[in-house]
Amino acid sequence: MRLAKFLQLNSPYSRQQIQLLLAKGQVTVAGSVVTEATFEVDRFIRVELEGRLLQEVQGHYFMLYKPAGVVSATEHPEHRTVIDLLPETVRSDIHLAGRLDLKTTGLMLLTNDGRWSRRVTQPESTIPKVYRVTTKDPVASDAEAVFSRGIYFSYEDITTRPAELERLGPCQSRLTIHEGRYHQVKRMFGYFDNEVTELHRERIGDLVLDPSLRPGEYRPLTAAEIALF
Ligand code: URA
Repeated sequence: MRLAKFLQLNSPYSRQQIQLLLAKGQVTVAGSVVTEATFEVDRFIRVELEGRLLQEVQGHYFMLYKPAGVVSATEHPEHRTVIDLLPETVRSDIHLAGRLDLKTTGLMLLTNDGRWSRRVTQPESTIPKVYRVTTKDPVASDAEAVFSRGIYFSYEDITTRPAELERLGPCQSRLTIHEGRYHQVKRMFGYFDNEVTELHRERIGDLVLDPSLRPGEYRPLTAAEIALF
């Protein structure tokens, strides 16, 4: 919503008075003076008028250690969902910033801020996602080269972006991908007919799963973590 409209709805002032207050620098958004009536505000930004708080920030941002067997959805007829792991007071408002398969564990982000979650999940985003991967068979000797060239996914008619593989053991590796296609990691190893038996997301961009969290636990993100996306 435009700032002038927001001020009209949330203060006793007329349009003309609001124009004047804006011009006089009496409006701050997220702590800075804003004079443009067309400035876009949403419910995730702090707005003050003449030094009085009009809107407090209402965003909720969590990181959660997804355990295996919990589904990445807001509702499910059979399984517990990641939303069920959050406090009841915020559940109705929250959505998932990305998904993990039922058996996959690790870092999940949840929020009520749609703009923020779109920045994390939009297909064009190249934010790295880092997975620890356990495979049934030893990783192929040319896996690094194949992953860094990209693999053709005929269903989407795309070639995956260059991905980096780090070997941790014959059947253990760390894979960094720069997109998030459906079952992407499993399909990349599927190229070698190698089954992924365990998959764990360690990191999204610079946001690392907090090592103090145990499976099923969550914590709010800090301001610095929210600002990463
Ligand atoms: N790739 C997969 O195959 N599964 C996940 O859960 C995440 C990435």
